[in-house]
Amino acid sequence: MKTDDERLVALDKAHLWHPFTQMKEYRSGSPLIIERGEGVMLQDVQGRRYYDGFSSVWLNVHGHQAPELDQALRDQLERVAHTTLLGMANVPAIELAGKLAAISPKGLNKVFYSDSGATGVEIAIKMAFQYWRNRGDRRRTAFVTMDQAYHGDTIGAASVGAIPLYQEVYRPLLFPAHVVPYPNSYRHGGDEAAMEATLGALRRLLEERGEEIAACIVEPIVQGAGGMLVMPAGCLRRMAELCREHGVLLIADEVATGFGRTGAMFACDLEQVSPDLMVLGKGLTGGYLPVAATLATDEVYDAFDAEYEEQKTFFHGHSFTGNPLGCAVALASLRLMEERRMVEGIEAKAAFVARKLAPLKELRHVGDIRQQGLMVGIELVRDKASREPYAWADRIGVRATMRARELGMLTRPLGNVVVFMPPLCSSEEELDAMTDIVAASILDVTEGKEAERR
Ligand code: PMP
Repeated sequence: MKTDDERLVALDKAHLWHPFTQMKEYRSGSPLIIERGEGVMLQDVQGRRYYDGFSSVWLNVHGHQAPELDQALRDQLERVAHTTLLGMANVPAIELAGKLAAISPKGLNKVFYSDSGATGVEIAIKMAFQYWRNRGDRRRTAFVTMDQAYHGDTIGAASVGAIPLYQEVYRPLLFPAHVVPYPNSYRHGGDEAAMEATLGALRRLLEERGEEIAACIVEPIVQGAGGMLVMPAGCLRRMAELCREHGVLLIADEVATGFGRTGAMFACDLEQVSPDLMVLGKGLTGGYLPVAATLATDEVYDAFDAEYEEQKTFFHGHSFTGNPLGCAVALASLRLMEERRMVEGIEAKAAFVARKLAPLKELRHVGDIRQQGLMVGIELVRDKASREPYAWADRIGVRATMRARELGMLTRPLGNVVVFMPPLCSSEEELDAMTDIVAASILDVTEGKEAERR
C-alpha cells in the first residue's frame, strides 16, 4: 500500500505539467508538495515547515491564512462567488475600482480588470494601440521596451518581453518591439553611464521614430525577472518626461512592484511619475486570488467613447473579469494595509534586511546586492574582480535555493541571482531568521560546502 504522500507524488509526476519547469528533471527529483500555510510559513505534506522567502512568487502581503482576508472571502461567498461585468456590475468590483483610482498615481481614474499580470499587460498594449486608432492616428503602432524586460507569457506580453531565453522559441509568433538598454549599473560602469545608455537610446529612438510609437512599457524602479535590477535615481522620471515630450504613452508594469513592495504604495510614487496606463496584479489581492487590473487615465478612456457604430469599443474581456471573491479579498487586503500602516513600515524592515545582508558583500563570489524595499537580488559571480558570471551549467542560483530549502526557506533564483522577497508582513524576527538562511545558503554553495554541511 502506498502512503498518501507517495500517491500524491505519483499523481503529480503522472499528470501535472508545471510552469517554467523542465519536466524531465522535475520527475527525477522528489517534489515539494505544500499542504498548508500560516503567516510567513508554508508546510509540506510531510509536515516540514519552510519560510516563504519569495512570497509564493512575489505576491504574498499579509501572510498565509490571514484571518481578515479569509473572513472577507467567507462573507463574499455568502453573497455570490462569481458573475460577469459584461453589461452589469457587482458590488466589490465597483468598490475596488474606486479604491484603486483613489490610491494610484494622479490621473489614473479608470480600472479594467483581468486575471493575471500577463492579461493586464495584454490589455494595456491593446488599449494603447487602439487609443491612437480611435483618435485617427494610424501611424502610432509600435512599442518600446527595455532589455531583459519581463511582462508575462501571453503572446502580446511576450512580444514586449526581452529575455532571450523565454522569447526565442516563440519569436515567429511575436510582434517586433524596440528595445532600449536597461540601466544596469553593475554591468554598465556605474549609475551615470548606465542611465546615459538608457536615456540616450530612448532619446534617439523617439527623435527618429517617435511618431510611429504608441507606447513605452517599463517595470518601474525594479526590473524583476531580469535579475532584480534597480534603476538609478531619476531615471524613471526622465524616461517619463521623454515619453511625454514625444507624445508616447507610458505603461507602468507594477505587477511585481505594486502594493508596498518597493517601500512606496507604487514604485511610480518613488519618483512622482504618473503613467498613462498602469498594470497591477500579484499583491493586489494580498496574493490570494488571480485578479489583475489595468488602470487608465481619463484621456485614454475618453478616446473609446463613441456612438456604437463607430467601433471604438474596447472589445476585450475574460469570463472571470471582476470576480467578486477576488475583488472582495483585494478590498480587505488594502484595508488591512492601511490599518497597519504597512507601506510606512517597509523602510525600517528594508533597512534591517540591508544591515543583515551587508556582510555578504565581503564574500568572494558575491558580485552585487541589489535592494529596493523588500525586493532583493544577490548576484553571484565566478570572479569578483572581472565580474565574470557563473556559467549556466554551474546552476549556482538553483543550488543556492536548494540549499536554502534544506535550511528551511523557499525561494526561486533568477539565473545567477538569488532572490529574497519575504511577505510584507514579516516581523523583524522572521526577517532575521530568513536572512540567516539566505547568507548560509550562499556561503555554502559558493564555498562548495553543501555536501559537507549536510
Ligand atoms: N509583469 C511583471 C513585471 C511580472 O513580474 C510578472 C510576473 N512575474 C508579470 C508581468 C506576469 O504576471 P502573471 O504571472 O500574473 O501573468
